[in-house]
Amino acid sequence: MASLTSTLAIKSLCGAFFRKRPVPLVLPKKAVIDIETVGRLAPTPSGRMHLGNVFCALLAWLSARQAGGKVLLRIEDLDQVRAPRRYAGLLEEDFCWLGISWDEGGSRGGPQGPYYQSERSEIYLQCLQKLEKLTYPCFCSRAELHAAEAPHMSDGRFLYTGRCRGLTAAEIAEKRRQRPPAVRIAVPEETIRFDDLRDGPQQALLTKACGDFVIRRADGVFAYQLATAADDALMGVTQVVRGSDLLGSTFQQRWLQKLLGLPSPRYGHIPLLTAPDGRRLSKRDGDLDLGALRQRGVRPERITGLLGYLAGLLEKPEEASPGALIPLFDWAKIPKQEVALTETHCRFLFG
Ligand code: GLU
Repeated sequence: MASLTSTLAIKSLCGAFFRKRPVPLVLPKKAVIDIETVGRLAPTPSGRMHLGNVFCALLAWLSARQAGGKVLLRIEDLDQVRAPRRYAGLLEEDFCWLGISWDEGGSRGGPQGPYYQSERSEIYLQCLQKLEKLTYPCFCSRAELHAAEAPHMSDGRFLYTGRCRGLTAAEIAEKRRQRPPAVRIAVPEETIRFDDLRDGPQQALLTKACGDFVIRRADGVFAYQLATAADDALMGVTQVVRGSDLLGSTFQQRWLQKLLGLPSPRYGHIPLLTAPDGRRLSKRDGDLDLGALRQRGVRPERITGLLGYLAGLLEKPEEASPGALIPLFDWAKIPKQEVALTETHCRFLFG
């Protein structure tokens, strides 16, 4: 297994990584922050956006715009079967309709492109190579991963037991003949800390919070954690605003950024929206997706106004464009708990 303490070796590898690039991909952290806030919209085009997705995009947008910053649009279509390109166009169209603008990215392109994760494999491959000393092939099947002995994490997922960590070269060669492996990264006993824009100081021990995690799937698709950690840093994003279901990922992503010698943005996690019956909103809730809402003639200001109210920015549900919400945005007002959509809210939308 790779040495977990070879930080110096990793640093010099990262140095080589950036020296090889024709243009510097990374601005020094301080310079980026001093120049401006850069927020991002990072949708996965796996269907039409639902109200929860719009809530997240709206707050990410407001947080960046209120700071006078810019917003970039990155399409997270790593898995092109789940997230085909045709949905990306619809996403852009929906953002425009809502009044959620972006300065670079998506089909508009820009200096940090490509902005489609499906076109950034070369970059992820270079990152993977930089991390090589800490990675190992994992041949575990789904059933093996869910084995009874696997400890659970707080969100119900399984902690990897480390089953493939100690395989010999001969065992690896033998297993490779049967199936392609995923690539896992071995995490050290290290505590990662960050200061959340909403929740304040956060910390987690990697071995307990996530265990060794996959950075490339067995089918060759790069994992979300690696791609997003690299992209946020390399695209100069200074502020990541996303749902609280991804708070746990932030420890993994900050650690990867540190290993790669990349700057970390600030992070703010916002409450999830639940459906009137208490379930988490998902793209299966077709009745609350933008396709259905638009078809029923709901005005965009009704949607953004209702979401502004649910974010604590308005006293009551009323029509408000994203632009009108900018001066009202305040992290201190964002609720700490999940936000439930009620029948009354839905009546306002369709009223
Ligand atoms: N692409 C993810 C989504 O659409 C968001 C990931 C992130 O914000 O880091 O849910």
